[in-house]
Amino acid sequence: MKAIVLTGPGTIVTADVGEPDATGKALIRLELVGICGTDVKIAKGEIPVAYPRVLGHELIGRVVRAGPRGVVAEGTRVLIDPAVACGYCDLCRAGRANLCRNGALLGRDLDGGFAERIAIDENQLHPVPETIARPAAGLLQVLGTCVHAQSGLDILAPDTAVVIGLGVAGLLHVELLRARGIRRIIGITRSPAKRELALALGASDAAHPDEADAFVSNLTDGRGATLVIEAVGTVGTFAQAIHVAAIGATIVVFGTITATRADALPFYQLYFKELRILNPRAALGRDYDRAIALAASGAVDLAPLWARSYPFDQAAQAFHDVTDSGRLKVTLDV
Ligand SMILES: [Zn+2]
Ligand SMILES: [Zn+2]
Repeated sequence: MKAIVLTGPGTIVTADVGEPDATGKALIRLELVGICGTDVKIAKGEIPVAYPRVLGHELIGRVVRAGPRGVVAEGTRVLIDPAVACGYCDLCRAGRANLCRNGALLGRDLDGGFAERIAIDENQLHPVPETIARPAAGLLQVLGTCVHAQSGLDILAPDTAVVIGLGVAGLLHVELLRARGIRRIIGITRSPAKRELALALGASDAAHPDEADAFVSNLTDGRGATLVIEAVGTVGTFAQAIHVAAIGATIVVFGTITATRADALPFYQLYFKELRILNPRAALGRDYDRAIALAASGAVDLAPLWARSYPFDQAAQAFHDVTDSGRLKVTLDV
């Protein structure tokens, strides 16, 4: 079968690989897969993996052979939870399988799903209704991680939320906040096109980062936002999240900050505002089920966040194009 294989940093090939061993597992035929920033970092060698490695963790497919327990029937369209958890460590037992001590991610630590078929444990499969149209379905895995990031947040309609960074994840956060009934949602991005899109998807206001502090202050009588979601992953945007936060606010650091330089952060404000900062990681199965239900009900609209799809054998071109700034979700048709 064909798969998209990273043979070394920067070298992506569509190659013939062996059929997966589905003993004790379900066999899935992939239909639509999404490329995310993590895939791009792996492809460039910024996140080292063992080569050769089949890429891919944003995966929608169909069950061609049910697993031994028959949890999901043959023919069912499914989202694959790309996180493999052991099920027996203390964190798994505490219901926090997304933090499993022995966990692995498909496409990074194990061969992924940019392939015609993949063998998967049945408990990683989440049925996806056919009513969620094909390109939109390619965003469900990212939506699941956004649902996880917002799970347990104590926010109500009068709260003011700021979302910094309006890529796919930032825009999904705007939609989820709108679906939760938050009326004042301020999106922050340099891109005029993404400010427009955020307003169309439920943001009440949008601003350029350079004017964000004054903008948020004006809209909140000088108090700042009670919830700030940072969806970029830089020290600078994290610092901005602290600045626009109200006293007692919660900050969700959704972007992964890899920089080690920390001296630019406004540490005194961290203390003075007694900020709650959350660092969500991956997602739980229940988050994917909720994401699928939100998309199926129309509460969250995924189609506007999809840029385009490429045929499976043009993967190298797709990876090249996905790094263009301004691109929303790029998918591959398997
Ligand atoms: Zn991803
Ligand atoms: Zn575990």
